[in-house]
Amino acid sequence: MLKDQDRIFTNLYGMHDRTLKGAQMRGHWDGTAGIIEKGRDWIVQQMKDSGLRGRGGAGFPTGLKWSFMPKESDGRPAYLVVNADESEPGTCKDREIMRHDPHTLIEGCLIASFAMNAHACYIYIRGEYIREREALQAAIDEAYDSGLLGKNAAGSGWDFDLYLHHGAGAYICGEETALIESLEGKKGMPRMKPPFPAGAGLYGCPTTVNNVESIAVVPTILRRGADWFSSFGRPNNAGTKLFGVSGHVNNPCVVEEAMSISFEELIDKHCGGIRGGWDNLKAVIPGGSSVPCVTGENMRDAVMDFDALKEKGSSLGTAAVIVMDKQTDIIKAIWRLSKFYKHESCGQCTPCREGTGWMMRVMDRLVKGEAEVEEIDMLLSVTKQVEGHTICALGDAAAWPIQGLIKNFREEIEDRIKAKRTGRMGAMAAE
Ligand code: SF4
Repeated sequence: MLKDQDRIFTNLYGMHDRTLKGAQMRGHWDGTAGIIEKGRDWIVQQMKDSGLRGRGGAGFPTGLKWSFMPKESDGRPAYLVVNADESEPGTCKDREIMRHDPHTLIEGCLIASFAMNAHACYIYIRGEYIREREALQAAIDEAYDSGLLGKNAAGSGWDFDLYLHHGAGAYICGEETALIESLEGKKGMPRMKPPFPAGAGLYGCPTTVNNVESIAVVPTILRRGADWFSSFGRPNNAGTKLFGVSGHVNNPCVVEEAMSISFEELIDKHCGGIRGGWDNLKAVIPGGSSVPCVTGENMRDAVMDFDALKEKGSSLGTAAVIVMDKQTDIIKAIWRLSKFYKHESCGQCTPCREGTGWMMRVMDRLVKGEAEVEEIDMLLSVTKQVEGHTICALGDAAAWPIQGLIKNFREEIEDRIKAKRTGRMGAMAAE
């Protein structure tokens, strides 16, 4: 279990003072100017050496992403944009940072922006996060009042402005190019890539979009050293990580743990075990609603990191672990996700606009057992036609949960269709 002295987020549960004074007592904003003095190259190299992979879901190496930003300006400004949209169902980790430990993020914004030659950073926060926005804005205001932001920020010689922008509550604005469009005042519709944001992002200028947690861990990594951070987790899966466990565990929670912690330890130590015991575990969605589910049996020996969960046919994603026990109607649970993705499709590309609705309607009938067995394969083939054929990853996000369902629970779908035909529908499925 991760020791308390190795936790980056020391006020995750809001038990302590979240003001600047409290944050400084816990070691934040300590020697920030000294870190910046070491220079851009040193910071980027440290981030690469730390092994930090983006915490927003894709797991792309953060230091490498930063190195894509132009070293010399061609006259255009550069921007850091922090993705605080956190709309993936099941995911609720960044909100704890923003409402309880906001100074970790603000200090991270200054250092990361300096490393990318940006004098301005925008935090794009989702529409539903109203209290989080208030807490974060209050922290930004006190940082300005104390000279940590603005001209000569924190005495570093770097002029830096930080803006908090409140979205209107659309899932698709968590996609980085849709987020940029929304920030520019347009409809949140993803852009084609290339050009990538590092070449032409916000207002056509070089931009890096990073997740809240990825930026909030930066100051501590630089203070304690890349070696310290990379000492947690397996190779290529370094660091500590916020896990958010929801669903059928006894104590759902968000907790900072070492990467590569075993699934069993995560659940037993922090969540009080599975509701009804381990034998009652049916399935787990290990990384936010868009990743395929894994059967409970297959999850028992799982290790919680990027590579291990890929081997299990799923993904760590945002580390939002959704646990389902044997009382769950898994077909209905996945149908609910299909409904969500159908609702959130921006409608730009045909496979996603039409496919998400089509898949949801078939899922509708599978929940009730009102389908032909052959339609299961037809549905699977449609998910493959949507996957990888759209502008952004929402098409994949809509396809993968269904693929996981068919791969792992085909028998249950077939049983329901047969039961419906013979009039022996279970009470749960009939609801
Ligand atoms: Fe919009 Fe869906 Fe296409 Fe993404 S995949 S751009 S959400 S229509």
